[in-house]
Amino acid sequence: MKIVCVARNYSLHAVEMGASLPERPIFFLKPATAWAAAGEIPYPSFSQNLEYEAELVFRIAKGGWNLSAEDVLDAVDAITVGIDFTARDLQAFLKSKGLPWEMAKAFDKAAWWGAWLPIPPDWENIPFKLLRHTEILQEGRGKEMIFPLSRLLSEASQYFSLEPGDVLFTGTPKGVGPVQRGDTLRAFFGETCVGEVWIT
Ligand code: MN
Repeated sequence: MKIVCVARNYSLHAVEMGASLPERPIFFLKPATAWAAAGEIPYPSFSQNLEYEAELVFRIAKGGWNLSAEDVLDAVDAITVGIDFTARDLQAFLKSKGLPWEMAKAFDKAAWWGAWLPIPPDWENIPFKLLRHTEILQEGRGKEMIFPLSRLLSEASQYFSLEPGDVLFTGTPKGVGPVQRGDTLRAFFGETCVGEVWIT
């Protein structure tokens, strides 16, 4: 299992990062060891600024290489909300040097996602949210994505063969921010709480 992620897929998040709008999707990977299946996120020893990025997440059902527009219709079979954890200080350092980001994004337990749900026909209009206690940290809708799901799947599969059980993170809306040890974050898809994580 691998985790395929896309950078900058919501325009207001690109703005808050001081980045330009992308002309094409930029992908990065997290390995299976980045999956925090149980929801416990140990604060990394190498960072002073661990940040959350709440994202719509899809499960790859069929997969393949170089998927066409028709192929992608049944490429995914479940949706949920996940968190792309990022060591933002380390990422900023690596970006400033023009170096790859894996150490800031692909470390152990840097990815979590909630319970899988069937994909509703109107999923793009259903708000997803990340809450800390009662505070709404982030809220977005799939329809705000710069590159739609079909393009993410077809374009990602030009580089990386997608396999059943792989996971696609589709980018974060605005409002990313830091977590602290002791925080509990809960993710919602519509009215459904898909799960929670806690920082230790
Ligand atoms: Mn992200």
